[in-house]
Amino acid sequence: MPELPDLEVIREVLGRRLVGQTVERLEVVRPIVLRVLVPRAAEDLVEGRAFECIERRGKFLLFGLSGGTWAAVNLMLAGELRLCPTPERVRARDYLLFHLRGGEDLRYHDPRAMGKVYLTDALGLVPGLSEMGPDALDPALTEESFLERLRPFQGEIKGILTRGALVAGIGNAYADEILFAAGIYPFRKRASLSAEEQRALYRAMRQVLSEAISVLRERMGEVTDVKVRDFLQVHGKAGQPCPRCGRPISEIKQGQRATNFCRHCQPGTLLRGGL
Ligand SMILES: [Zn+2]
Repeated sequence: MPELPDLEVIREVLGRRLVGQTVERLEVVRPIVLRVLVPRAAEDLVEGRAFECIERRGKFLLFGLSGGTWAAVNLMLAGELRLCPTPERVRARDYLLFHLRGGEDLRYHDPRAMGKVYLTDALGLVPGLSEMGPDALDPALTEESFLERLRPFQGEIKGILTRGALVAGIGNAYADEILFAAGIYPFRKRASLSAEEQRALYRAMRQVLSEAISVLRERMGEVTDVKVRDFLQVHGKAGQPCPRCGRPISEIKQGQRATNFCRHCQPGTLLRGGL
């Protein structure tokens, strides 16, 4: 699943390459990911309009088009955006093709078909966008305001980080990385964290995400449909030596989600039920 660092680099690349380009024609190969939130045809909302800006809020990419249209994209588990020459063969699971006047396409591709592309003239209509917390790298989110926001949350700290109500943009992979950097066991209850641990969590969140953006900027270059995760410290590294202490990294699976951590560097006990 693309998370904040991946999406930030995609935003930067498309900001350089897409802004200023005009949509000649929208081709809806299959409408499964498309949601038009105003009573207009999708084509009317985008054709003849230029991309003016690309913003990111949590896991949403917000494409501002001239005339007041927004395309709000949530890639969910497996969605991808890529720019390619218009004549390039359309792949299976390419759902939306924005044909641009300059001879390129912006294509939305999604092997799982779980992502969404919302077209609207009011971002307040986009489901999930206004309910989520501030972006995890929002400059206005200071350490003090983070601690203040964290206080009412109950339950396990990893779940709180990934659900998006506290802060937006963190998913399964980067939650593991942040908790490793902070030395916090992922299944600790929020209420059991000391003030020092909560501060460490904030600092780890800002540092891990910022550093990942730097790495991905280098590694992704101009390519927006790759997922680079091999540089992570613990996520996806079950059984490999912990980069801090050398002991093997643990994995706990809950449904489809794996949590990776180091039992030595992030001490704790899995407690279920009753607590
Ligand atoms: Zn360790």
